[in-house]
Amino acid sequence: MVYSAEKLEEEKVFKDPVHRYIHVRDRVIWDLIGTKEFQRLRRIKQLGTTFLTFHGAEHSRFNHSLGVYEIVRRIIDDVFDGRPEWKQEERLLTLCSALLHDLGHGPFSHSFEKVFDFDHEGFTQAIIIGDTEVNRVLAKVDPDFPKKVAEVIAKTSANKLVVSLISSQIDADRMDYLQRDAYFTGVSYGHFDMERILRVMRPKEDQVVIKKSGMHAVEDYIMSRYQMYWQVYFHPVSRGAEVILTKILHRAKHLYEQQYTFAHPPLHFYTIFNDQLTLQDYLKLDESVILYYFQMWQEEEDAVISDLCRRFVNRNLFKYAEFDPAKEYKKLAELNKLFVKAGLDPEYYLVVDSSSDLPYDFYRPGEEEERLPIHLLMKNGELKELSRESEVVDAISGKRRTDHKLYYPEDFLLDETSKKNIKRQIRALLEL
Ligand code: CA
Repeated sequence: MVYSAEKLEEEKVFKDPVHRYIHVRDRVIWDLIGTKEFQRLRRIKQLGTTFLTFHGAEHSRFNHSLGVYEIVRRIIDDVFDGRPEWKQEERLLTLCSALLHDLGHGPFSHSFEKVFDFDHEGFTQAIIIGDTEVNRVLAKVDPDFPKKVAEVIAKTSANKLVVSLISSQIDADRMDYLQRDAYFTGVSYGHFDMERILRVMRPKEDQVVIKKSGMHAVEDYIMSRYQMYWQVYFHPVSRGAEVILTKILHRAKHLYEQQYTFAHPPLHFYTIFNDQLTLQDYLKLDESVILYYFQMWQEEEDAVISDLCRRFVNRNLFKYAEFDPAKEYKKLAELNKLFVKAGLDPEYYLVVDSSSDLPYDFYRPGEEEERLPIHLLMKNGELKELSRESEVVDAISGKRRTDHKLYYPEDFLLDETSKKNIKRQIRALLEL
């Protein structure tokens, strides 16, 4: 039997808290899960620093990737199979793309991307195309198959229908992470009727559309995404932890460039600092490695890196104030000066963080990021863009909300054993 069609003798099941079971029958999928690059995702948390706010949020990208695979498998096997607009020969391509879509995520992805300009999507491509176990499994299907999978994940594939299952405004990725993140954080948002949505999804030419009768389930999904963003993903405490993490990385790089002698040299960072990172080096990075350095750097002689690492490891985070960059730039400049006088480097200890989200967007051609809108399939076979039918969705469509916070170490500002007057001026400005 050809490898692409090979089935396991017995179905394998993973017990999953969100989908109950994840079913694997295809040999290719089973082999991909066993590769070291995929197993690495067990050591990368799905939500980065969020566990410091919601202690349950320790789930990994491995969990999430299996979940996305399972949702796509159910759409194909239970809903699409047999429909004239779906080509069953795309099944394996779609399943592999779903399983591997986050393969290139590194430890604390967002922070590393900010500080070192990492691009996890680029690494996903590199792992699939490069000299890896994942590549060897995919190439056994067909020498062109790795490239096809990479194109679906990069959204450059000509097969738009398959792309829209993996990434669109209502895709398997979002449906999994919303439910999974809600489950592990324990919040009551993030739940919606996925069973209903799956049953009303239809392949239609080059996209997945939703039967009109499922509109309310989709409204619920969009609202739950909106709430998850502001209640969980952009939680100001997690962002504060991310600020500290980012600053540790900045400081480590700075010290390295100043030829500071580390008590615990950043071996895993050398090629990053020198801009010579290879794929093999990247694959050695995971959160246990990074946390090891943070643990050790608590003992560094440099006061900034040791303080920041102690803060991260022991969860002694920065406090925050609301901040309006348009109106308060003078105040920020004033604070910067006072921080220097107080002996605190504002580069590391006075940080503005901004978060922004667009809950749902209709199609606006020519926009920098063209988002495929969600289309409803009407009884007469016509397609209608969701916000034209749904008043709820219309109310939040295309509206970007941005939130700015100013982070600082409150404990230091409250300590009056030194620079008492300057600290009082800072506290007055921050309205502490
Ligand atoms: Ca994902």
